[in-house]
Amino acid sequence: MYHQPVLKHRRTLLERAEKFISDVYFTDCNLRGRLYGDSCPLESLTSFLSPKRIPFDDASKQNFAPYKVGDTFGPTWWTCWFKVTLTIPESWRGKEVHLLWESDGEAMVWRDGQPVQGLTKEGEKTSYILSDCLKDKEPHSVTLYVEMACNGLFGAGQGSMIAAPDPNRKFSVQRAELVVINRNVRELLTDFEMLVDIVKELGEGEQRGYQALFTVNEMVNLCDPADPSSFSKAHSMARKFFSQRNGESQHTVHAMGHCHIDSAWLWPYEETIRKCGRSWVTVISLMERNPEFVFTCSQAQQFQWVKSWYPGLFSKIQHYVKKGQFIPVGGTWVEMDGNLPSGESMVRQFLEGQHFFNQEFGMYCKEFWLPDTFGYSAQLPQIMQGCGISNFLTQKLSWNLVNTFPHNTFFWEGLDGSKVLTHFPPGNSYEMKGKIEDLVKTVKNNKDKGRANHSAALFGFGDGGGGPTQLMLDRLRLIQDTDGLPRVQMSSPEKLFSQLQADSALLCTWTGELFLELHNGTYTTQAQIKRENRQCETLLHDVEIASSLAFSRDRVFQYPQEKLRQLWRLLLLNQFHDVIPGSCIGMVVEDALKYYEEIRRDGAVLLRQACEALGSKGSSVGVFNSLPWERHEVIQITDGSDKLALVKAPSVGVSPVKDTQPVTPVSVTLQSDGTVVMENGILQTVINKDGTLASLRLIGANREAISDGCGGNQFVIFDDVPLYWDAWDVMDYHLQTRKPILDVVQPVHVVSSGGLRGSVGFTLRISGKSTVTQEIVMDAMCPYLKFNTKVQWAESHKFLKVEFPVRVRSPNATYEIQFGHLQRPTHWNTSWDWARFEVWGHKWADLSEHNFGIALLNDCKYGYSIHKNTMTLSLLRAPKAPDPTADMGTHQFTYAVMPHTRSFQDASVIQCAYNLNFPLRLIQCSPDSVPWSAFSVSTESIILETIKQAEAGNGTLVVRLYESYGSSVKATLHTALPVREAWHCDLLERRDPTQPAHMTSEGIILSFKPFQIVTLLLIL
Ligand SMILES: [Zn+2]
Repeated sequence: MYHQPVLKHRRTLLERAEKFISDVYFTDCNLRGRLYGDSCPLESLTSFLSPKRIPFDDASKQNFAPYKVGDTFGPTWWTCWFKVTLTIPESWRGKEVHLLWESDGEAMVWRDGQPVQGLTKEGEKTSYILSDCLKDKEPHSVTLYVEMACNGLFGAGQGSMIAAPDPNRKFSVQRAELVVINRNVRELLTDFEMLVDIVKELGEGEQRGYQALFTVNEMVNLCDPADPSSFSKAHSMARKFFSQRNGESQHTVHAMGHCHIDSAWLWPYEETIRKCGRSWVTVISLMERNPEFVFTCSQAQQFQWVKSWYPGLFSKIQHYVKKGQFIPVGGTWVEMDGNLPSGESMVRQFLEGQHFFNQEFGMYCKEFWLPDTFGYSAQLPQIMQGCGISNFLTQKLSWNLVNTFPHNTFFWEGLDGSKVLTHFPPGNSYEMKGKIEDLVKTVKNNKDKGRANHSAALFGFGDGGGGPTQLMLDRLRLIQDTDGLPRVQMSSPEKLFSQLQADSALLCTWTGELFLELHNGTYTTQAQIKRENRQCETLLHDVEIASSLAFSRDRVFQYPQEKLRQLWRLLLLNQFHDVIPGSCIGMVVEDALKYYEEIRRDGAVLLRQACEALGSKGSSVGVFNSLPWERHEVIQITDGSDKLALVKAPSVGVSPVKDTQPVTPVSVTLQSDGTVVMENGILQTVINKDGTLASLRLIGANREAISDGCGGNQFVIFDDVPLYWDAWDVMDYHLQTRKPILDVVQPVHVVSSGGLRGSVGFTLRISGKSTVTQEIVMDAMCPYLKFNTKVQWAESHKFLKVEFPVRVRSPNATYEIQFGHLQRPTHWNTSWDWARFEVWGHKWADLSEHNFGIALLNDCKYGYSIHKNTMTLSLLRAPKAPDPTADMGTHQFTYAVMPHTRSFQDASVIQCAYNLNFPLRLIQCSPDSVPWSAFSVSTESIILETIKQAEAGNGTLVVRLYESYGSSVKATLHTALPVREAWHCDLLERRDPTQPAHMTSEGIILSFKPFQIVTLLLIL
């Protein structure tokens, strides 16, 4: 019959084949309707509901009550445990038998006390295989437990995915029974599906698509759903098509199983632990059946969770890691945000991650893996290379709203010139399904055609976990080498990158940051998380330095290595790419703030203990300076007297507080028109009644900083309604809704009348619900003016910023990033320029022309925009999804403005920003103690960032320095510590045996290239 010519009607043939495998139409007579054979009810199904996530051993001891399929339970975030008893009929001998389980929650099957399989309808996993081919000796009566989380793969958003979770959602089991699966039908369905997709994806322009069309049509002719003996003919026809081979030039797709699991996002951290368990146990069971299957898996923290919660599963994972099938990737503790963590935090992500992978699996990851974060710092290539990593995989820049990134395979060159081979899978996804569409896209989208003939395709459900399925593996197996389609091989990152490296001569280079033109609101959303992150980074910095000094001076002092590791890991966890950006639900914010509280509480104890050990015991007040330069600052003594003192603190050291008087005290003058003039010999400012600066003058240079006719420190508010991603996005058009805040509640009044400190206070009304109160502070000898700010914030979809229009003209502004800084344009010439209307920076940004500039410093903010001559700091947002209470409440933060002559480097802007962020710490010391400096550096541009005990312990310190000005210099590191030997090492603290550091009587001689990070091991 099928040898008859068919009419030239592509559509009818194609739809005929589609209907033949449809799960909606004609299932009474098509092939899909034959997938399941006999079915049989469970013997019994009982359940027990728990508000908490409890271990299996506790759950299995509870009283289970009868459950009827279809009954609802909940609410959201609870857990329903099921006890399933079943008996497989004797007559199913030789058949493939599954437990069918359809429900809207995420479930884990337990058998004999061990997790064996994840079941998630959204992740296309609805059956647990009881037997591949039932034999008499197999157990026919089985008891299983099913642990069902009352949440879906993406949490429980009310109405839309990113809406706040519905706290009262009800769940149910819709189907629970035993079935026979007709394996030959399943295989044939996959043949049909792939051929139909080839017809659709190759379109009418490719003859191969028509060959697929006629093949699939003939298969329908041959195949009688009611007669299984007809299936093999259709199957061999498909085989013939799929085995027609490609030529040698065909593109190669490196398929790798993957399961992106957000460490917290629309669900809390605790649920992520179970998501890892469910997803990875399924991966292991797929590996048991598919020996070629390779799975890539990132985030040491998730492995650590699985190790403690599912030790049996973890040892299976270790087994498959050894076999090279389960491949740990990325090298970091979590897949962190790529913009906001400090340089040292980024190093610690790798240090903790690689340390863990080495300890548990005896390996270091060779590639950095960060497919889903919101931009990538220009300092990452150097940090990667320093951590033994020279390859990088992501795809997020395909989300750019304005410009299409020009490469898929290229070299990425960082701030210091370090390069890493970088691959963006051209399919623009980390959760492919092994479908024809994915592969065709991978070839078509590749922007390096002719340069790179290999690409990655990551397959498996992701974000909320899930991972690969048997169907995805079956699809990929079918088309390994089929004429007209790219060649597909199960691969690994190592295979992919070594292929790309081997043929990299024609690859292009991208220099500088990988800026994501989307999600720019994440520099500001959830301000409290950002503030805690900055302050905890600062605290751990100080604890490590104080502890290192205490240990070096007095070997009796115990360096708190384990405690510090624990606190660092909490900080690193909260830097996950949906937590520190503020794109998570309220429950996650609560957890994150709890972890910060723990870091603060325990960190404060550690700091006190270290400072006590340093302070030579006594009743006098002293200070500890963790920064590598001498500081002369006004501080507040909090010994009950609350008095101010001007102190001199040596570089990385301690000193008793000896009250000195400033050469020029601060003067504060209230003028008859209500304005206030403050002056400290360096700066003079005139503050209007509404708190704006009418003038800010650099006295020595006789230069005015504030633009003519404008006010500095102008609060402004914008409407902030994005297109969809509420917590994530601020759109370009918000700039058109700017409104200055002019409503004065309390006009400027003098708070501190001068001497060591002058200050004024004022309050503005933002709206009926929100106010801002500020104290503008001028300290003696201080080159910047501080703005201590308190905001009562109860807005909805508004964005609060503060502006400084300044007398500077420059096409570029400079922003601090990790271990350095970079320039971005102040104009909107091209789409690449204006797409950066809102950018991120760390402790400072600067706008300078030759010999004059203004720096804007902050103690916990990250969002900036500098357009033309207006410098703007982003302060607070008010998105309503996924956390409807995001940023509501009271906020405190400080920023500062610093006009300067010369360049920002020569004016010590960088050091001033450090001073603002790292307050001198008060300590107790004996009145006769003398100032002591442990370290200092001869060259101002070199910043001694980190001093810690080496991970290996044993009396070795690690010091990390970086070149901060963008210059090639030599420097001497002086130390008062008894250093016997010094060695260069990498960021993982592995000694470079070819590079002993050059020690002289003066100190250790070092040379730096621009923005270079240098790490030393100091053996005491
Ligand atoms: Zn993610």
